[in-house]
Amino acid sequence: MPKREPIYIGDTPVKAGERASVDLPIARLYTHTEMKLPVQVIHGKKEGPVLFVSAAIHGDEINGVEIIRRLLRLKLLNNIRGTLIAIPIVNVYGFINRSRYLPDRRDLNRSFPGNYSGSLASLLAKLFMDEIVAKCTHGIDLHSGSNHRANLSQIRATLNNPEIERMANSFGAPVIINARLRDSSLREAVAGSGIPMLLYEGGESLRFNERPITVGMNGIVAVMREIGMLPKKTRKKPPQSVVVKATSWVRANKSGIVHKAVPLGSVVKKNQQMAGIIDPIGDQEEAVLAPFEGIVIGCLNLPLVHRGDALFHLASVERPQDLAEISSMVLDESLSDAEIMGGLTSEE
Ligand SMILES: [Zn+2]
Repeated sequence: MPKREPIYIGDTPVKAGERASVDLPIARLYTHTEMKLPVQVIHGKKEGPVLFVSAAIHGDEINGVEIIRRLLRLKLLNNIRGTLIAIPIVNVYGFINRSRYLPDRRDLNRSFPGNYSGSLASLLAKLFMDEIVAKCTHGIDLHSGSNHRANLSQIRATLNNPEIERMANSFGAPVIINARLRDSSLREAVAGSGIPMLLYEGGESLRFNERPITVGMNGIVAVMREIGMLPKKTRKKPPQSVVVKATSWVRANKSGIVHKAVPLGSVVKKNQQMAGIIDPIGDQEEAVLAPFEGIVIGCLNLPLVHRGDALFHLASVERPQDLAEISSMVLDESLSDAEIMGGLTSEE
């Protein structure tokens, strides 16, 4: 059998059967220090899919960084078919500043496909498209909730593409959202290149949330098995997912302090109370009611709201009969988060 050709990341060749760390130069900081994009490549001996897994395109969404760190420690990656390209920190600037954005306040995930003569965000987007996406057959991009909001583990993908649907179903996140493409996002640019990609959301920014990290890492391994990079497991049934029909934000109906909020993953009936909002100098409580039957896929962990602020992200599902089945699993997920966060209960 002829030996597999090396893969090039920048000027660095990675031979078949080898694993390498490559630092791609982005641009200099004004300190003269060169900023680089760290990339880990595992180039299998045998031909197969080329999968990128990226995190921290929003620099404060760090659960994905930990998902990739744990993924790369797995011994089973030593014998993959094809190639895994892992980019744990895409927005290195935001990661240092603990910020979603680039230093000029641009959002990298609204800057694709980018160009080399544009803003720093545009330049980094273009580098990512040329050096990573252009070499791949599949992709998974990892995110968390922003602005003090936590997301239930969920896949966002365009399900009208059969290969994307296959990846989404194998991932095993409790919730799958058939999400439209956002303008100038990585997902839109990758779709334009004809490459199937999943977006995984889990947990809250600037936190390590244990269950979303575990679900994310297991999901990536499951997708690698499904697309033929790792041997299939015949015995184990993948965890059940529910497909979301529509989602809506449930907003605060008055300004005040939020209490008695239902936890992430709760299944609520129409008109069920989801939270109370109370005036800090009075005892006037206003109930926040569920506008429809659904599952809480996102919630605000900061209990201070103005009228109109988003409190919950509520999803209705294709098959409401599946809700009961999934609720125990996802409630378990949000409770283990609460434990990790020291008992404190409480977007792409
Ligand atoms: Zn994000």
